[in-house]
Amino acid sequence: MEQDIEVIRDKNSMRNWSRTKRAQGEKICLVPTMGYLHRGHLALVEEAKKRATRVVVSIYINPAQFAVGEDFSTYPSNFEGDLDKLKDLGVDTVFVPSDLYVREDNAGAGKGQDNIASGCISCLEGKSGNGHETWIRVEKMEKPLCGKSRPIFFRGVATVVAKLFNIVEPDFAVFGKKDYQQCRLICRMVRDLDFAVEIVGCGIVRDSDGLALSSRNVHLSPKERQEALSICRSLNQVKDAVCNGQISTGILQHSVLEAVRNAGGKIDYVEIVDQETLQHVDRIDLPVVLCVAAWFGGVRLIDNIELQAPTS
Ligand code: AMP
Repeated sequence: MEQDIEVIRDKNSMRNWSRTKRAQGEKICLVPTMGYLHRGHLALVEEAKKRATRVVVSIYINPAQFAVGEDFSTYPSNFEGDLDKLKDLGVDTVFVPSDLYVREDNAGAGKGQDNIASGCISCLEGKSGNGHETWIRVEKMEKPLCGKSRPIFFRGVATVVAKLFNIVEPDFAVFGKKDYQQCRLICRMVRDLDFAVEIVGCGIVRDSDGLALSSRNVHLSPKERQEALSICRSLNQVKDAVCNGQISTGILQHSVLEAVRNAGGKIDYVEIVDQETLQHVDRIDLPVVLCVAAWFGGVRLIDNIELQAPTS
């Protein structure tokens, strides 16, 4: 039965809602998203429903994780469509903060504000000294992989997630392993800063042809989308090669690099790293994870595959 969905936009109302529910003995699970929801997001909601009696989905395009020149202003959104999908799943509460960051001009930090139309962090920090200036850095884990080409990205992610945890005070929060580095980094932040929340990681949801679902896929042309399949195909080939005894990470990484380049992609990184620390490994010593980021046209895609020791 479809029920009404409550949209909360104000931080204090969100916190009061949560505290009231928790006082009534309810367990709350938060699913943070940037919206334009697809089956990957919905799988996180399904996982959340298994853990908690109340699921809060947050929808917020976080300006703090986009550097100047990145795709903040063109990030896809479809709020009404998102609400319909969440209603169908029986989610009763959606947090859509309009005032997450205090900014020097006192404007809200939501998408669509004129002064952040180019999508930038600088408009949060400002020049007057009254803007947002407190950041969480997960110092080592933010540096490799996506951190190399997006040096402020994980600072923005860790900070917004910490803010959401402080506002919603969830018992659980669900993250997708599609954003592998993000998921691991949030676990580390929770451990290091004693957040009272249990992090649940969910497997990657793919389209029937293997492409990892992503809100950004909508910007791929049909040709780029075909080319992008080289990523998941080459990840699976690496898995097979490891099963067949290949232990050189150099050789394995090179095979992905060649396959994606030959298909027309522009590589950001291909790296095999330790699953916990995300530090590079020179030879396969399972478990590890192979992570890839590559551009197809103007769209940057990420994907990964966990390589586990066989269970017998
Ligand atoms: P986003 O809206 O892209 O910030 O993603 C919100 C959450 O959904 C993050 O925890 C992502 O890792 C997760 N997510 C996005 N795409 C997928 C996918 N294809 N499979 C599983 N989780 C995903």
